[in-house]
Amino acid sequence: MIRFVRRIAALCVLSAALAACGGTRPAAPVSPSGPATASSGDAARPTSTFGHHAFAVPDATTASAPHSPSPGSPPAPPTLSPASGGLAPVLTHGPRNRGMIVAFTFDADMTADQGGRAAAGERFDNPGLISALRALKVPATVFMTGRWAEQYPDQARSIGRDPLFEVANHSYSHYAFTADCYGLPRLSADRLGADVERAYTAFRAAGVAHPMPYFRFPGGCHDDRALREVGRLGLTAVQWDVVGGDAFATDADAVARQVLDGVRPGSVVVLHCTRSAAPTTERVVRAVVPQLRARGYRFVRISEMIAAAGPA
Ligand SMILES: [Zn+2]
Repeated sequence: MIRFVRRIAALCVLSAALAACGGTRPAAPVSPSGPATASSGDAARPTSTFGHHAFAVPDATTASAPHSPSPGSPPAPPTLSPASGGLAPVLTHGPRNRGMIVAFTFDADMTADQGGRAAAGERFDNPGLISALRALKVPATVFMTGRWAEQYPDQARSIGRDPLFEVANHSYSHYAFTADCYGLPRLSADRLGADVERAYTAFRAAGVAHPMPYFRFPGGCHDDRALREVGRLGLTAVQWDVVGGDAFATDADAVARQVLDGVRPGSVVVLHCTRSAAPTTERVVRAVVPQLRARGYRFVRISEMIAAAGPA
């Protein structure tokens, strides 16, 4: 029973977060929790949108951050300028007037306490999805938890070394950074930064050479304290404006319609790279990519979406 309750809680977290954070449309189909929790988490907090931030490249003050380039590494990726008070800037979507670009993002969710379930055979990865993205040549950003990278180091390394993809940070534990985040266990306030850094450590241990300085909060839940911790590390927080609704969906066509209905120029779409909780995602991608290309869209990674707001 406890296991059942915990599982339902985890399902609610994922699906409710998507329903709450991605826009006005609820995820479809509705999760076991229903959309009732959609008013919690970050939904109550207005987030900055792209146009409020200037283009910036990390400066020397971020040199000690976990993503800092080492000699001989590629140039530092673009980030948004810090918000006032040292808060991390928040990207919800890219520019609406810099061409038909769209960023697909995939959350590789695995929570720190899910190792037992993985050992029992539950699959938190989705190799078929990654293969589909490669076959379709879709650049994408994977927001990976450190725990996921520990569970699937070969896949983490393969994704991290493929120039088609960017690996970004979705925390180590996938625990909440705020109170009342869909029932997720909450990190203590003094552990927020350490959890983010631990994910980078896990990425490097897996062989991900250049994880990006972009962070997605578990459940999307954040407040000023959380943003300050992420800002201290020189990271840009990345939310979304289009909810794919693939979490716990069984109808790929419905998810595909939701994506197609939601995408606008500059959109950031959130989907999942977690097969057990999002089993339709590969089919959704195979369906929507050709249709979006037919409309004239070009797929970009988050770094390019941020750079798109730079000087014309
Ligand atoms: Zn997540």
